[in-house]
Amino acid sequence: MSYVSDSSCLRKALRQQYLSLTQGDHCQISYIWIDGSGEGLRSKSRTMDSEPKCIADLPEWEFDGSSTGQAVGSNSDMLLIPVGMFRDPFLLDPNKLVLCEVVKHTREPAESNHRNRCNKVMEMVQEELQPWFGMEQEYTLLGLDGHPYGWPRLGFPKPQGPYYCGVGADRAFGRDIAECHYKACLYAGIKICGTNAEVMPSQWEFQVGPCKGTEMGDQMWMARFLLQRVCEDFGVLATLDPKPMKGNWNGAGCHINVSTVHTRGEGGMEYIEQAIEKLRKRHVEHIRVYDPHGGEDNKRRLTGLHETSSIHEFSAGVANRGASIRIPRLVALDKCGYFEDRRPAANCDPYLVICTIARTCMLEEEDEVVDLE
Ligand code: ADP
Ligand code: MN
Ligand code: MN
Ligand code: MN
Repeated sequence: MSYVSDSSCLRKALRQQYLSLTQGDHCQISYIWIDGSGEGLRSKSRTMDSEPKCIADLPEWEFDGSSTGQAVGSNSDMLLIPVGMFRDPFLLDPNKLVLCEVVKHTREPAESNHRNRCNKVMEMVQEELQPWFGMEQEYTLLGLDGHPYGWPRLGFPKPQGPYYCGVGADRAFGRDIAECHYKACLYAGIKICGTNAEVMPSQWEFQVGPCKGTEMGDQMWMARFLLQRVCEDFGVLATLDPKPMKGNWNGAGCHINVSTVHTRGEGGMEYIEQAIEKLRKRHVEHIRVYDPHGGEDNKRRLTGLHETSSIHEFSAGVANRGASIRIPRLVALDKCGYFEDRRPAANCDPYLVICTIARTCMLEEEDEVVDLE
């Protein structure tokens, strides 16, 4: 048996009575933000007297940045600026989940706030190029003791092979999480487009997109929040560690799929090839931002084995899952569409990933430097 949390063993059916109580015109609003680690999410809640209809209806708020690795105690107040509003699949309508940017009291973005810069880059490219992004988030379920969920206490499950898109009690470990998360995303208004069981047992994936510009980051961070929150209910952990198990087990990535009005149009393949050549020149720079530790996390994952490319080399190919960049077979046949950058680690910051891709592939070099730091 895998070890699940005490909280998940509470009598969850009792919740139903409280959830069905009326709340007048009041609305419960959970503010959600990325903490100082650049990976963790935090949330706290407040009451509003009426239902907010748009982001402009939501007040700014403060929190104690010294408790989230974002400020020192003597000057700890940080500001939460609402940037995205979603329906709350846990407390249900009319309650809301609100994604926030974190800024200092000077209104400069916090160090961990990469959305701000991403947004500036997207504003420069958006109108002309209309970039779309789609991300595939892989994650691994663990028991509360950190052991992969459903794996034998001693020894290992049978080797990889039957688990990818697998069905059956000996192949699909923890499907409830993937399915409940899918439902929660749809209710909340996330553009989730699919999910599948992955190559390593107890590893899963969901896909979000296509999204326009910065929206990709907003949607993916909220989808990650929902994943953590669903897992909390079930008492298990979802880790975004890019290589949770050493040895002959696949790691976890967050492939990013990219297109512009040019790549999507007739003759788009030419533009895809141009983008690939630009990416080739900046491989090292991209690897640095494709995980939160400057490439250290991806070192364990991008070995050239287990459907990855080597961290030291750039490569591209049609239908090639061992390449840095893959052009999907159908895109090659249509001669237009999108390409996939397979390098980002599961724990990457989507804002940083799309911002870096846009700078490399979609901005002229002289525009790139404009006021981005
Ligand atoms: P894979 O074969 O790599 O496992 P998936 O089906 O898991 O592919 O994911 C495909 C991803 O590509 C999804 O996130 C989807 O939103 C995204 N996508 C599809 N079309 C486009 C497009 N034109 N531009 C950008 N992303 C796209
Ligand atoms: Mn996929
Ligand atoms: Mn996958
Ligand atoms: Mn993929």
